[in-house]
Amino acid sequence: MPPHEFCVVCGRTGRTLTDGVCAECAAERTSLVRIPEHVQVVLCPQCGARRGGGRWSRAGASSVITAEDLAPFLVLDPEAAVREVRWTERGGTPSRRELRGMARVRFRGLERAVALDVVVRVVGQTCTDCGRRSGRYYTAIVQLRGEASPRTRRPKELRRRLDGVWQGLWEEFRGDWRSAVAWREERPEGWDVYFTDTLAARSVARLARQRFGIPIVESASLFGRRNGQDVYRVTFCLRFPGRDDRTPPGPER
Ligand SMILES: [Zn+2]
Ligand SMILES: [Zn+2]
Repeated sequence: MPPHEFCVVCGRTGRTLTDGVCAECAAERTSLVRIPEHVQVVLCPQCGARRGGGRWSRAGASSVITAEDLAPFLVLDPEAAVREVRWTERGGTPSRRELRGMARVRFRGLERAVALDVVVRVVGQTCTDCGRRSGRYYTAIVQLRGEASPRTRRPKELRRRLDGVWQGLWEEFRGDWRSAVAWREERPEGWDVYFTDTLAARSVARLARQRFGIPIVESASLFGRRNGQDVYRVTFCLRFPGRDDRTPPGPER
């Protein structure tokens, strides 16, 4: 490129030009990344699995809509690459969530931040595994609970908070822990997560202990015999401190 060549938009010289335009100006004039105004995510209310491309995946995931859910909807400029999108929920209802995203995008050696807005329709549908799971085989349960009281007057808030906690832990799970999660059930006092592998459940409980400094309360119950051996189901109860479950009993305010 001869040094006297200049960008036809900003007039600056000494910049790499494509079709006469520098990268900065091209980035300004291009939609580097977009998302449709409305998208739909299908998830299984039992196990949290998502349906995409004709199949189910991510059983055990939380119902929080994440970058993983929205990545397939992003429309990218052919020269742009998304480094990361941070999504925050701005409002809505459980079945219609409004999210704002901040994308970091790479384009011709530049990095740009692009704001994205989307409304996600969340559709609940029982996945094939949960539908098929007539025997409902499991070997361990991880119970996600509030701090102390067995019941809370605000079970929805409690479950929502515990769902967020679970989502955070899920990010750190090994692949075999994730695939050991069979399904998840709502309880008035939190969540029960069913595992097909006790070692994976124990690893998850230990991870929670490390991250939150909480004790693991473990109990086992005999549920049968296999090959002449007693078989136990193990329950790990994890109590995560939070505000929602500290409402003292008493009259409504
Ligand atoms: Zn320019
Ligand atoms: Zn399912």
